[in-house]
Amino acid sequence: MPIERRDGYWLWIGGPVPKGADALTLGSVVIVRSGHEASPYLLRHEQVHVRQWRRHGAIGFGVRYLGSYVLWRTRLKGHRGAYLRIPLEIEADWVARRSLSTAVPANDLADASRPT
Ligand SMILES: [Zn+2]
Repeated sequence: MPIERRDGYWLWIGGPVPKGADALTLGSVVIVRSGHEASPYLLRHEQVHVRQWRRHGAIGFGVRYLGSYVLWRTRLKGHRGAYLRIPLEIEADWVARRSLSTAVPANDLADASRPT
């Protein structure tokens, strides 16, 4: 399980990632499922989460993330509907897409729905 220093974060390829997700960010550590480490969209998306962790702190990030998720679940949205409405996810998606200003490969767009 290689862990390498990247620009402002640590990338752990092959570390533990929840089922249904391709990546997970914990503070400054981005954990990526093996085989997805070359996705520019995914890495950019997770880098936004690294910045969000720094901006809000672990507790602030957790409260915002889980609070929004739980709120939408109580509004009878399924897992995916709630996930897509989390403001921190919306920001990560938009920033990642915008930073990849050229056309995003279809394969990356498919990945866009799966990072956490
Ligand atoms: Zn995300």
